[in-house]
Amino acid sequence: MSNVSISSEAPQLASKAGRGCVYSEVKSRLQSAGLRPTRQRMGLGWLLFAKGDRHLTAEGLYEEALKAKVPVSLATVYNTLHQFTEAGLIREIAVEGAKTHFDTKATNHHHFYIEGENRLIDIEGSDIDVASLPSVPEGMEIARVDVVVRLRRKV
Ligand SMILES: [Zn+2]
Repeated sequence: MSNVSISSEAPQLASKAGRGCVYSEVKSRLQSAGLRPTRQRMGLGWLLFAKGDRHLTAEGLYEEALKAKVPVSLATVYNTLHQFTEAGLIREIAVEGAKTHFDTKATNHHHFYIEGENRLIDIEGSDIDVASLPSVPEGMEIARVDVVVRLRRKV
């Protein structure tokens, strides 16, 4: 095989110093979010969080679970991702025309979306200045502003 390409989006390895987390950290993360650390949540949580900040779809996590021999169904993966989202452990990123992505980086930031590649790249929260926001209806407040900047390859 001479035609080997290295993907620039390869997930960061868990062994990188300061990144990712070990099994006991997943357990305390779940517990502090009010979730019981069941075997399935632990298995999926470990897969999700051990590789540092990243974006992935339910289908992507399901494939990783199969490879890692974590016995779950795709429906369980969906349910667990939604439970994690509700508990504030991860964020759901809905992009029009794309599969829903889940983001293990739960702090404020925005995204580039590359059209045709179904891929998200982080934009630091401080790199976007939302200068003017509309006034909100009576009794409401802005929870957060998510910006998706759509990109396409130049022709
Ligand atoms: Zn992100």
